Amino acid sequence: MPAAVPTPIDRHSQPDAAGHFGPFGGVYVPETLMTALEELGAAYAAAKADPAYVAELSHHLKEFAGRPTELYFAERLTAHCGGAKIYFKREDLLHTGAHKINNALGQVLLALRMGKKRIIAETGAGQHGVATAAVCAKFGLQCVIYMGAVDMDRQSLNVFRMRLMGAEVRGVESGQKTLKDAVNEAMRDWVTNVRDTHYILGSALGAHPYPMMVRDFHRVIGQEAKAQLLAREGRLPDEIVACVGGGSNAIGVFFDFLEEPSVKLIGVEAGGRGIVRGEHAARFEGGKLGVLQGSKTYILQNPDGQIELTHSVSAGLDYAAIGPEHAYYRDIGRINYAYACDDEVMEVFQLVSRLEGIIPALESTHALVEGIKRAKVLPKDKLVLINLSGRGDKDVNQVAKMLGVTLK
Ligand SMILES: *Cc1c(COP(=O)(O)O)cnc(C)c1O
Repeated sequence: MPAAVPTPIDRHSQPDAAGHFGPFGGVYVPETLMTALEELGAAYAAAKADPAYVAELSHHLKEFAGRPTELYFAERLTAHCGGAKIYFKREDLLHTGAHKINNALGQVLLALRMGKKRIIAETGAGQHGVATAAVCAKFGLQCVIYMGAVDMDRQSLNVFRMRLMGAEVRGVESGQKTLKDAVNEAMRDWVTNVRDTHYILGSALGAHPYPMMVRDFHRVIGQEAKAQLLAREGRLPDEIVACVGGGSNAIGVFFDFLEEPSVKLIGVEAGGRGIVRGEHAARFEGGKLGVLQGSKTYILQNPDGQIELTHSVSAGLDYAAIGPEHAYYRDIGRINYAYACDDEVMEVFQLVSRLEGIIPALESTHALVEGIKRAKVLPKDKLVLINLSGRGDKDVNQVAKMLGVTLK
């Protein structure tokens, strides 16, 4: 059972200098990568303290990515639910279609500062690959994206988008041929080419300093939402709901509310076909403490420590480990976690499209499922903020197929 929330929470105390969020996180990598990670940590600390870097990043976040994103009152969905007022934070309006561009921009500017000429990244659904390909094109850097062969098949449109923007997409044929295997391949590349290559990791995962750095790049989501809600409603939300793959959009929207005890924070994992081994990706439902790809955290694994197969209707939530900062705040009871199953997601995807004229990403729809459940049982004077991490254009082919609709 999660312990009681210690008060007060000091959100800036995590992680410690060695990258630990309580007992989670850390740096579990081969010796050959230690120097690279230390160099990256030092470069990031210097950049963060440099007003020129901060100003350049916020310029590109505005001009290239489209920040600030809107806060949107979902009026018809609110009426449909009959309870709390529902607001969306519109990360789906960002360039390339999801929050991923916040982090890709932050890291590419860092790579330029470090004099790296070549960028590599992993991608699952392809959204992080597309964001990385876009920033590499913009800044004229060589770009190699690792993607599982199975994911390339499922997300062929995103593969084509990356190639249009000049990226080389390398199919990964090892393991399950999905995201985990793409990360392995990207790490192998980084070990070999570390001198001229920066690895833009796509979520709040992996070895320190990545979970901290990626979180920082997404903090802007919560900072904007806080100011926007205060301006619009004159107060903070009662609950904030976000989907959790690795955990970057969620920690980004939550971070500036961690020290506000009146605000409930809820992360939503992928329940897949239900909480049965191999049929879901809800790490807090049956996951155990372990180390995967550089970080100690909750992982879906079998009794021998082998990584379990995962499943979700949304490729972006389909990963066996959760970001270490989430593990920490779950353990101390500050953030609560729920899960949404594929069938609920399919229903709410269509409901929100119909009621609001907004087609959400299947990942974001997980947050909508939980947000709707909560809004329904809250009184009308309460506020629920749902982070709409991405748009669903990338998912319509898949949804059409699942609904038995043939597209020409
Ligand atoms: C990648 C992705 C996610 C999951 O990643 P997090 O790091 O957990 O945010 C969620 N939503 C969308 C739209 C994505 O593209």
